[in-house]
Amino acid sequence: MGDTPAPRQDPRQEAFGYVCHACSRCCQHKVIQVNPYEVARLARRTGQTVAQFRANCTENGAGNILRRDETDTCIFLGAKGCTVHPDRPLVCRLYPLGRQVAYDGSERWLHMEPHPQTAGEYTGKGTIAAFIAAQGALPFMRAADGYVEWVRRACTAIESGAGEMDAPDDVLDMDVAIARHCTETGAVEPSDIEDRRTLHMEILYRQLGQTMGGTHDQKDAIGSE
Ligand code: SF4
Repeated sequence: MGDTPAPRQDPRQEAFGYVCHACSRCCQHKVIQVNPYEVARLARRTGQTVAQFRANCTENGAGNILRRDETDTCIFLGAKGCTVHPDRPLVCRLYPLGRQVAYDGSERWLHMEPHPQTAGEYTGKGTIAAFIAAQGALPFMRAADGYVEWVRRACTAIESGAGEMDAPDDVLDMDVAIARHCTETGAVEPSDIEDRRTLHMEILYRQLGQTMGGTHDQKDAIGSE
């Protein structure tokens, strides 16, 4: 009889602790990727529509990387730190950790190389789970997983010839997609950002369902709790 393999440890239980001392060095020379949920939050935070935010605050107006200034610094870094802190994107919340999610949904945590002059302090106290909870990262991780899964399924549908995506070009603009959906259905627009994220996911997956014959497990991919 062979030994029973030890149960695989939850990677979020790894010992980890980090205290930010707001030196802001992590806001320079970094590519800050954002998804439609993060764009919608930042647009609301900065008093813009999603379309305005994409045009004004993301690289090439594409809506997926935050703009940097001539010193290669994030445009949201102010004299006293991040000017959009309550709505800062996931990568900013997780730093100095990075998160990789494999095709099977398993998660891997990376330790980023710190800036040589960082004032951040590694304490080793606590766990990754406690750190991400304290950073308010969980809704952002849920959103990221939902959008990544949607893109994967959309690519699979198109590559397999299951059909052309007949979604409007602006379907990834959360505000536009929700407004159009509510106009068409007579539903009341939700104002809570998490409700809006959920509805946006439903709209996106419905678009895919039309091209994939509705074979997907929508609830699972949306990340319902
Ligand atoms: S969004 Fe805020 S925390 Fe993130 S890089 Fe920009 S200034 Fe820094």
